Amino acid sequence: MGLVEHESALRASADWKMAKTGAKVRPMSSGRAPDSAADEVRAALGPTLQRFGPDYWREQDAARTFPTAFFDAIGEAGYFGTFIPEAYGGADAGARVASVLVEEINRAGGDAATVNAQMSICRTLVLHGTEEQKKRYLPGVASGDVRFLTVAATEPDSGANMDELASTARRDGDGWVLNANKVLISLAEHTRLMILLARAEEGTTLFLLDLDEVGDQVEMHPIDLVAHRMTSSLFIDELRVPDSRRIGPAGTGLACLMRGFVIRRVLAASEAIGNARFLLDQSIEYAKTRKTFGQLIGVNQGIQYPLVQAYARVEAADMIRWDVLDRVDGGQDAVVRSAMAKVLASEAAWETTRAALTTFGGWGLASEYHVERKLREGTVYVFNNLLMNLIADRGLGLPKK
Ligand SMILES: Cc1cc2nc3c(=O)[nH]c(=O)nc-3n(C[C@H](O)[C@H](O)[C@H](O)COP(=O)(O)OP(=O)(O)OC[C@H]3O[C@@H](n4cnc5c(N)ncnc54)[C@H](O)[C@@H]3O)c2cc1C
Repeated sequence: MGLVEHESALRASADWKMAKTGAKVRPMSSGRAPDSAADEVRAALGPTLQRFGPDYWREQDAARTFPTAFFDAIGEAGYFGTFIPEAYGGADAGARVASVLVEEINRAGGDAATVNAQMSICRTLVLHGTEEQKKRYLPGVASGDVRFLTVAATEPDSGANMDELASTARRDGDGWVLNANKVLISLAEHTRLMILLARAEEGTTLFLLDLDEVGDQVEMHPIDLVAHRMTSSLFIDELRVPDSRRIGPAGTGLACLMRGFVIRRVLAASEAIGNARFLLDQSIEYAKTRKTFGQLIGVNQGIQYPLVQAYARVEAADMIRWDVLDRVDGGQDAVVRSAMAKVLASEAAWETTRAALTTFGGWGLASEYHVERKLREGTVYVFNNLLMNLIADRGLGLPKK
């Protein structure tokens, strides 16, 4: 069933909110007039999210496994084609759908990282790929048959500075020879397609690697992180690829990648907002049921105020998230606003995690309440210095190093 039919069928079923929580009203609103694209995604997703509740995610986290059943269910519903034009088998549904999708997955206690990657990384191919590349791969990406989960950019020495890559692409007749060492690369062991950033004579250049073809020439070693992010280091030694593997003109790799960053930031903000709302939902419920000293803990201002502060910050971050989505859909520049949305949402989520820990006390560290897992997952959103640099430079006009 395609996305549209799936959504219509499910919209006709019970209200997703009631189905999911059994509650009369959810404690948090988006603080914004109902958005039909968002409502449709929520209606369609409710039953799937019920099937894959927080305990499913706790098991994936504990076993360090790829969430295959969940990933396939989202693929069957058609969401992987959200940014792919219909001509290549996608739904071309846009940023709002993607944003609500990842928020709702996280709000239900899940982890949208794999879905986010499959939806958004292929945008680089949509925007800059050749007709042959798009026809060959995008329909499979849209259906989920072809996993496209990975961008390999970061290196051990240059870190955040992608202008100083040591990985190289050397012209060799009608093709290229690649040598690369990458670190902290998400989902590399689970993907079929990977975008590799390397330095050619002309400057940074993107290559599309099909690991079904060249996987045995890409050495991978897992890097275990506090959050279950399935990252690896990669080594590529004298790998020859045809020129048809290049994405975009040689020398424009970083610029091509950056064209996708507005969407990636707003999706990261949406994931963080989803996590924060999950933690708020859990904390409010706990504060209303847990008693100490003969009273509900929720009557204490020491419990209430951190939750109130977190709530206010999440709502504010959400408003700027929607502002970015409006700008994206309206074709306006959203570079600085998207950076602000990501910074504000990740900080709001971090503060919410702290409020949740205060609410749950020692039980916040026990895996059965999912707070500790969200604490660990939340660590991946808090690196914002380069976004602050961007806001300082482009938003405030401050002097640049
Ligand atoms: C969970 C996770 C998943 C990741 N997945 C991927 C992936 O799929 N693909 C990929 O290519 N990379 C990935 N990365 C790598 C990530 O992009 C890098 O961690 C990031 O680019 C920074 O590089 P670094 O960790 O080497 O930090 P460094 O570059 O060494 O920086 C260290 C600290 O200094 C700060 N800093 C550096 N320069 C400046 C400056 N000029 N101004 C202010 N502060 C500065 C940084 O913000 C950081 O906080 C992932 C990282 C994590 C944690």
